[in-house]
Amino acid sequence: MANLDSLSAALAQRKQQRLYRTRPLLESAQGARVVVSGKSYRNFCSNDYLALANHPKVVAAFQQAANDFGVGSGGSHLVCGHSSLHHQLEEELAAFTGRDRVLLFSTGYMANVGIINALLGKHDAVFEDKLNHASLLDGGLLSGAKFQRFLHNDIASLTKKLAASTAERKLIVVDGVFSMDGDCAPLAELAALAEQQDAWLMVDDAHGFGVLGEQGAGCAEHFQLDQNQLPILMATLGKAAGSFGAFVAGSEVLIETLIQFARPYIYTTALPPAIAAASLASLAIIRDDRERRQELQHLISHFKQQAQALGLTLMPSNTAIQPLLIGDSAKALVVSRALAEQGFLVGAIRPPTVANGTARLRMTLTADHSEQDVSDLLAALASVLDPL
Ligand SMILES: *Cc1c(COP(=O)(O)O)cnc(C)c1O
Repeated sequence: MANLDSLSAALAQRKQQRLYRTRPLLESAQGARVVVSGKSYRNFCSNDYLALANHPKVVAAFQQAANDFGVGSGGSHLVCGHSSLHHQLEEELAAFTGRDRVLLFSTGYMANVGIINALLGKHDAVFEDKLNHASLLDGGLLSGAKFQRFLHNDIASLTKKLAASTAERKLIVVDGVFSMDGDCAPLAELAALAEQQDAWLMVDDAHGFGVLGEQGAGCAEHFQLDQNQLPILMATLGKAAGSFGAFVAGSEVLIETLIQFARPYIYTTALPPAIAAASLASLAIIRDDRERRQELQHLISHFKQQAQALGLTLMPSNTAIQPLLIGDSAKALVVSRALAEQGFLVGAIRPPTVANGTARLRMTLTADHSEQDVSDLLAALASVLDPL
């Protein structure tokens, strides 16, 4: 048996840097209130923005489909795992996003790795925002394309790099809503630049889908970008949709390319069909129940107002992701633990998820929170921060 001491040393170092991760043990369904290790909390760290993860209609659709289709899909999409429920979800998502066609992936991480690697090789170049999600960075690195990062939301920085590139294919990749910051990418400018520089634009809308746009179709709807302007639209179903999985929406030729060449699509078991049924039920609620989005929007405004009244300086975000920059990782942990003692679950996000020296509390709001929940959280936060 090989000696694993070097691993123990790396673990010890991580602990000492206050970067060690542990997993809160949930003993309830996801929601604005959860039970963790026997204690009840008001939960401000889920991505279940529309409170659909435990919605009765979504749960019922899942149960019914499990009765009809069983649990496992039994195969990859290309062999015998592609069910009529997967297919229906793809068709409804294509109509909803205004794209020719949609392809489901088992997770968002796999979608991002699969898309970038199917589109790019060593003669190509990928241009990524510095704050992109890890799955986009990993996808770009794995592709063998020339990997270039530009300053966050900085069109001038990107323009310079694009103009200097001699790559055959150029792919610009950004988060629609940045997952640890909550701000949006300047998609109209990025789309114009992509066209001008003959580059493709890919957006990961994990945190915009279901939430942004009049209909909830996400950042493409919010910024009114059609399939020509934004040809590669990716989003996940495990956040606002409260389900699981991910999809990419675009042209017929894009989707066929992914079916033929995206290895994380080809070499994996299809999602359970009942998950697709749950996502269909979520999609119906996203489409029909605008009030949920309005309630969330109202809470975001309330949160920002109250924070300002308490003298808390938030990061510039208008979305359900409302981070408070702390800086030091140890201090972020202290604040998060003090909030937990008062019954609030808030994640301390530390490097390497975010840049060194930018540890933060990432507070997220959902349609199931009340104004009182938000006011109580902020009052607790102010009292915790005051003596620090
Ligand atoms: C969560 C997330 C992903 C990964 O999606 P999963 O379905 O959870 O694998 C990808 N991109 C962004 C921006 C995310 O926030």
